[in-house]
Amino acid sequence: MKIGIIGGGISGLTLAWYLQQAGVPYDLFEADARPGGNLHSQPTPAGYLLEVGPNSLQLSPELQELLTDLGLTNQIQDAAAVSQQRYVLREGRYQVLPGSPPALLTNGFFSLKAKWQLLKEFRRPAGPLDATETVAHFFRRRFGPEIVDYAVNPFMAGIYAGDPEKLLIHKTFPQLPALEQQYGSVLRGFAKSSKGAGRRRIITLQNGLQTLTDTLAARLTNYQPSTAVTAISRAADGTYQLELKGPQGWEAAPGYSHLALALPTYAAAPLLEPLFPPAAAALAAVHYPPMCAVYSAYDRAAVAHPLNGFGALNPKVENPYAAGSIWTSSIYPNRVPAGQVLFTTFVGGAQYEAAARQPEDAQKAAVHAELSRFYGITAAPRWQARYCWPRSIPQFDERIVAAHAAADALAADNIVAVANWRAGVGVPDCVRYARRQAETLGLRRDDN
Ligand SMILES: Cc1cc2nc3c(=O)[nH]c(=O)nc-3n(C[C@H](O)[C@H](O)[C@H](O)COP(=O)(O)OP(=O)(O)OC[C@H]3O[C@@H](n4cnc5c(N)ncnc54)[C@H](O)[C@@H]3O)c2cc1C
Repeated sequence: MKIGIIGGGISGLTLAWYLQQAGVPYDLFEADARPGGNLHSQPTPAGYLLEVGPNSLQLSPELQELLTDLGLTNQIQDAAAVSQQRYVLREGRYQVLPGSPPALLTNGFFSLKAKWQLLKEFRRPAGPLDATETVAHFFRRRFGPEIVDYAVNPFMAGIYAGDPEKLLIHKTFPQLPALEQQYGSVLRGFAKSSKGAGRRRIITLQNGLQTLTDTLAARLTNYQPSTAVTAISRAADGTYQLELKGPQGWEAAPGYSHLALALPTYAAAPLLEPLFPPAAAALAAVHYPPMCAVYSAYDRAAVAHPLNGFGALNPKVENPYAAGSIWTSSIYPNRVPAGQVLFTTFVGGAQYEAAARQPEDAQKAAVHAELSRFYGITAAPRWQARYCWPRSIPQFDERIVAAHAAADALAADNIVAVANWRAGVGVPDCVRYARRQAETLGLRRDDN
């Protein structure tokens, strides 16, 4: 048994790490010179430490174990306590979003009608299981329209670059319909099933999250950077051969009993096309909306808002330009020179695609104008930069269904998909899934 892993983002690196621990032979090929894929930390000469991709991670048990294995626990930096508070735009000004269902009832953010709808959720009968139900439809049905407009919509835009009217509930949050079916009410289900479970820590690493993927790559014995897989073929004995384009030019790597696709669907599709055309078509159809991160730094004195939170999200019903901003200097104050504040503003995603395609100057100006309006900013930014993702985060909408079915079918041909489009887009999801796949492959090593 030998596994060819294509893609050295967090998914591929984690898979390789656990295969290596289990003594399963593998080769990992990464097209880029830098490992980590989306995890990309960039210190700037002006003294900012930017995260181009993920900013913060929920410290899941699997992530904690991985960090411990790699000797990185001394680098964990918790998000500042203040960042437990999150703001949402309502009637043109940022208001604190209640952080729990009980707080929803006591805080003045939602109307009395919305609070009454929320209480009624306990007694609302469970609906039929519907694999085509969207996130918005599910929440509207159980909790009413205001919760969708002012909590679900901005949350889905800010975290998933998504549109709740399109994302499927059973793909995005499968646990919620399950709670509804099991307990007759999502809230009752939450109350019963999460007893004693505290909030997970939100963390980064001192020199940026890329430390995690850099360390993983450095510990792997069979990691080949700057080596793109350009084609897959199959020998008569069923083993796979990879065509590679690396520093030495074109090469072939034969003899893999299994392949792991640890790359986005749009990169996997052309590789699968000659051998598995229907799977390739299903993967090619997955939607990745464009998104840009615009970084804006100001003198603290020029910003009226206290910035006492993680950041602020903008619901679509408020007609915003951006999906929202993370207050980087509030969450991780050491990442910004003293006396300044830094906003990371997300422009684009499935609900704001046209804005993501605007030229850089127009986008920076629009972000500055919107920040000035909502935060009471009285000066020009000291510094601005942007980074764009033409294809950002895979959408778990109706198009993901065929891609997941194709991935399930490929397993019969010893090809596993281990990437963010498979079992959740968060980095902890990728770590959990890759580790589970490594364990499964490790168990099968004696069969092949
Ligand atoms: C802007 C942004 C912000 C985010 N914020 C957060 C956050 O705060 N918290 C969080 O938990 N998650 C966040 N995410 C999600 C998370 O970062 C990703 O889901 C995760 O990093 C994906 O990892 P991956 O390994 O599955 O894929 P990728 O990171 O896409 O890695 C795939 C790798 O495959 C390589 N590759 C592609 N084609 C080939 C080929 N032919 N041959 C060899 N190699 C190839 C690529 O170069 C790449 O390195 C964010 C994502 C984005 C885009």
